[in-house]
Amino acid sequence: MAKRDYYEVLEIQRDSTAAEVKKAFRTLARRNHPDKNPDDAEAENRFKEIQEAYAVLSNPDQRQRYDTFGHEQPGGGPFGPGGFDGVNISIDDLFSGGFESVFSSMFGSQGGRRSNRGNDVMIHHTIPFEMVLTGGDQELEAKLKVPCGDCDGRGSATPGGVQTCNICRGAGRVTQHRKIGPFVQQVVGDCPDCRGMGRTITDPCKSCKGGASERKVQKIRFAVPKGVSVGTRLRLSERGEPARGGGGRRGDLYIQIDIEDHDWFERDGSDLLMALPLGYPELLLGTTVSLPHIDGSNLDIKVPAGSRPGETIEVYGRGFPRPRGRGRGDITVLLKLHVPKKISKGLKRQISELQSEISIEPDDYEDFVRGEADERRRSH
Ligand SMILES: [Zn+2]
Ligand SMILES: [Zn+2]
Repeated sequence: MAKRDYYEVLEIQRDSTAAEVKKAFRTLARRNHPDKNPDDAEAENRFKEIQEAYAVLSNPDQRQRYDTFGHEQPGGGPFGPGGFDGVNISIDDLFSGGFESVFSSMFGSQGGRRSNRGNDVMIHHTIPFEMVLTGGDQELEAKLKVPCGDCDGRGSATPGGVQTCNICRGAGRVTQHRKIGPFVQQVVGDCPDCRGMGRTITDPCKSCKGGASERKVQKIRFAVPKGVSVGTRLRLSERGEPARGGGGRRGDLYIQIDIEDHDWFERDGSDLLMALPLGYPELLLGTTVSLPHIDGSNLDIKVPAGSRPGETIEVYGRGFPRPRGRGRGDITVLLKLHVPKKISKGLKRQISELQSEISIEPDDYEDFVRGEADERRRSH
């Protein structure tokens, strides 16, 4: 079964606030809690699904990644190859808010130092069908977050206006000890003083107000590899959003490739498929059909005499490039019989005159049906 959209699971809008996400989770988690639905496997699955959606959407970094990439994230999903395991939350936890630490410690518990890295960005881009054959350079324009031009992405008006945070000493994360009943729990969270940035700005830049970034239309040039398939993501390292508050590393920019439809070809990997309508005389007597082709030279399809509708003709080596430089794929041409919708009276008369020569006699149908079936079975 296809994985459902997290927003759909929590029955919320994509622009819902953190408070709305939490409220939706509480309501749905209570309704589907296993204690309330004993022996109901469906409710249990829903409960797990709701937990997973909340785990991601309640974490700003994970939510941003999900908004960009959906379920198919580069480098795998946030829960590792095994997927989400589900966590044990009691009904009491749902009322008291005791579930929050479970989810907040789910990601980024490694090391306690978050890397100050900007968000990844994904852009969809459609290329012409022919470009799959040759690959080539493409250019697009998009409005993206880039380092502020006025302060060179520092965030401060002067180079000396950026200082390492005294509280977290630049790590952006602090460890707090919280007493819960008889236990002391260690909680790692964003430094409250610098809001996780690891640095403070004493004289914010006037243009970006210390944010260190601005939105600007960017010309992005990139190379499309030949043989590319729909959904391929090209990664432009460090062309994504700048790190929050300057410093750190820029995120990556991904360009997801879509491919325009061709007027008649369907694609199957490096092979192409098409249908060719032919008149009865062309099937009977044979012909050569010449069509303009994606590689610039005409595609000549030789139809042998006595061809039948439903048969296929292979044109070798004129499809898309095969992986690892092993030549080009083939084109499969499916023969069809073109039957005109309307014919003139004169033609009708002429064909009627020929009818006795080319049609099947009523008494012969049984033999023809049997012969056709024999042939079909032999060919399988
Ligand atoms: Zn700090
Ligand atoms: Zn600035």
